[in-house]
Amino acid sequence: MDYNASAPLRPEVLALMAEVLGRTGNASSVHGFGRSARAAVEKAREQVAALAGTVASQITFTASATEANNMVLQAFRNGRILASAIEHPSVLESAPHAELIPVTADGVVDEAAYEALLDKGEPALVSIMAVNNETGVIQNVGRLAKIAKKKYPGVHVHTDAVQAAGRLPLDFPAWHIDYMSLSAHKFGGPHGAGALITAPGAKPVKLLHGGGQEKRQRAGTENVAGIAGFGLASELAQKNMEGFQKLAALRDRLETEAKKVVPILIHGEKAPRVANTSLFSTPGITAQTQIMGLDLDGFAVSSGSACSSGTVKSSHVLRAMGVADAVGECALRVSFGPDTRSDDIDAFVNAWSKMAARLAKKEQAHA
Ligand code: PLP
Repeated sequence: MDYNASAPLRPEVLALMAEVLGRTGNASSVHGFGRSARAAVEKAREQVAALAGTVASQITFTASATEANNMVLQAFRNGRILASAIEHPSVLESAPHAELIPVTADGVVDEAAYEALLDKGEPALVSIMAVNNETGVIQNVGRLAKIAKKKYPGVHVHTDAVQAAGRLPLDFPAWHIDYMSLSAHKFGGPHGAGALITAPGAKPVKLLHGGGQEKRQRAGTENVAGIAGFGLASELAQKNMEGFQKLAALRDRLETEAKKVVPILIHGEKAPRVANTSLFSTPGITAQTQIMGLDLDGFAVSSGSACSSGTVKSSHVLRAMGVADAVGECALRVSFGPDTRSDDIDAFVNAWSKMAARLAKKEQAHA
């Protein structure tokens, strides 16, 4: 139940990757082995492009979405950048000077505050994620990009669509954006395979120099098996997009049942959210305690983003939503996927309820 950290590799993807790994050849070689590797890369490019609603020529394969985000944010290091306050660290840390666009208590970009920032002057880049990894809250990227472009036709817009891919339809051209970052391992593909999608006229920074791979945008021999796996996972995720929406019923049931046990606060509850994610705080019971208890029962969940876990600090996302640290430290993220069944939710609710009721009693005894 930690799909937002990493979803399981789909069996079909594993089978394809094993077959491709068994092949020999560099995708840049002109002989038959090379051409076979090249064919696998180009097929994947078509599949990833289809998932993003765009054309293959706009896809640059990278080793992660972190890399793709860095390629964009670092390209604007000397310009004014507006980034939402809830971006992933791979955006925020590659643009330390970015001005942060506030979000509402529900985790949605505050449009009045965004417009006020735009009114202050033309930014070079706006970066707003499509779906937040901790809350699952969806941003209206198309609308927000249009607002910026109407005011400043020359502004570039980037969206980190890592948590949106396979969960809601992506439409690169219709969103009025110039850059989109994707990562394979969030929807059944392998780790170490990402992509940057660029519109004509976009100028991402070149981080890796050397060979002429990826139209000279990103040097280094292609991870052919990883890219092939990314491609197939994209195709499968696209086919299953409708099925994915059914997870909302499981998520809603989980939240309804949890509310019956102890008072919980569901972050982003009133905002549009992707179907598979629930972030909720049980005041007085730290996320760390809950995660350890659930782990013993065989449930893998997380406290906000995996990157910042290991510490019991509240996340920058919850802080931006105005959540007090004492409440943020108790936020548990449950995120699941197409393989999750109704029984899994029942088993989880059962284990969590027992634990929460016991810990809440203990907490009351101490109070
Ligand atoms: N952006 C978001 C919203 C994420 O959730 C993640 C993964 O945690 C990333 C970027 C980084 O992706 P990758 O693991 O491919 O570097």
